Amino acid sequence: MTHAAALIDGYGRVHTHLRISVTDRCNLRCFYCMPETDVIFKPRAELLTFEEIARVVRVLVPMGVNKLRITGGEPLVRLQIDRLIARLAAIPGVRDLAMTTNGMLLADRAEALRRAGLRRLNISLDALDASTFEQIGRRNGLARVLEGIATARRTGFDKIRLNAVAIRGLTEDQILPLAEFARQHHLELRFIEFMPLDGDASWSDEQVLTGRDIRRRIESEFGPLFPVPRSDPSQPAVDYQYGDGAGRIGFIEPVSHPFCDHCNRLRLTAEGQFRNCIFSQEEWDARAVIRGGGCDRQVADLARLCVQAKKAGHGIDSPEFLRPHRAMYQIGG
Ligand code: SAM
Ligand code: SF4
Repeated sequence: MTHAAALIDGYGRVHTHLRISVTDRCNLRCFYCMPETDVIFKPRAELLTFEEIARVVRVLVPMGVNKLRITGGEPLVRLQIDRLIARLAAIPGVRDLAMTTNGMLLADRAEALRRAGLRRLNISLDALDASTFEQIGRRNGLARVLEGIATARRTGFDKIRLNAVAIRGLTEDQILPLAEFARQHHLELRFIEFMPLDGDASWSDEQVLTGRDIRRRIESEFGPLFPVPRSDPSQPAVDYQYGDGAGRIGFIEPVSHPFCDHCNRLRLTAEGQFRNCIFSQEEWDARAVIRGGGCDRQVADLARLCVQAKKAGHGIDSPEFLRPHRAMYQIGG
């Protein structure tokens, strides 16, 4: 097998998308992701350096990886993150470079990110009401996020998406305001179902506000939504068009409608572990290979082993389902 053989798992899924976590730190404490207190972050020396991350990407691109998403923790708390973006943007074969951020630091960083070559941004915004925002994030910051969104729009990002995690009993009254806000500002909004990845391990399926429930609410206000055919079968969201033509809205339904069949994602945690699924119980230690003096072929082989071990699906709905040992902020969302 050559070094550049594609990353294909046992179910024929071809992996072209790498999600790179750059830190486990964050300036919010969203209850669905992090514990409120006593958070233990990885020492900085354990995180991959920008050079190490770029090396992994240079190894994986010839194996078919062409889409990168930078995430965390909060990627904008990693110092000089724009330098990593510039390095990755310069790697031939990287066709799509995106970031998921909570937007808290975006007003200051949007221009540098754009200059460095970032083209797409997903900004997380679960509530437009300051007290709900604070209940979720356990910090205030709504005004900063809104300012970050406005700056990103002015800075000329091609496509800005809003991601909203929906929580039953908490965010129902945010659905319509978020939809209205996204329509007004020409942003694509995607609602995400709450997954069992919270740091406090207190998720229950009763807290999951499903895509179907949210669609009903949206349709009661804005009229029927029309499904948009998927241009890319691996995209996790099911998108709909508003009847009046004013924009799109999407639903990511990992709990009620798992999309594992078409998953093409490989993950790299901030401390350099490959994961083949957000719910994976196992990790493959790329940092040990790199820091142990391993060659590119060894990094490639490790990525291939990780992908080959991928399960058919996460099985949240099965009685045998086990939560991963780590929470969302430690894995990379
Ligand atoms: N800090 C950045 C942010 O919040 O956008 C990036 C990392 S965050 C882990 C990535 C995405 O995962 C965010 O949109 C966040 O809302 C979502 N998320 C976190 N925990 C989740 C959970 N338990 N279920 C569903 N989505 C979750
Ligand atoms: Fe931070 Fe993002 Fe997790 Fe919220 S979801 S605590 S913003 S990493």
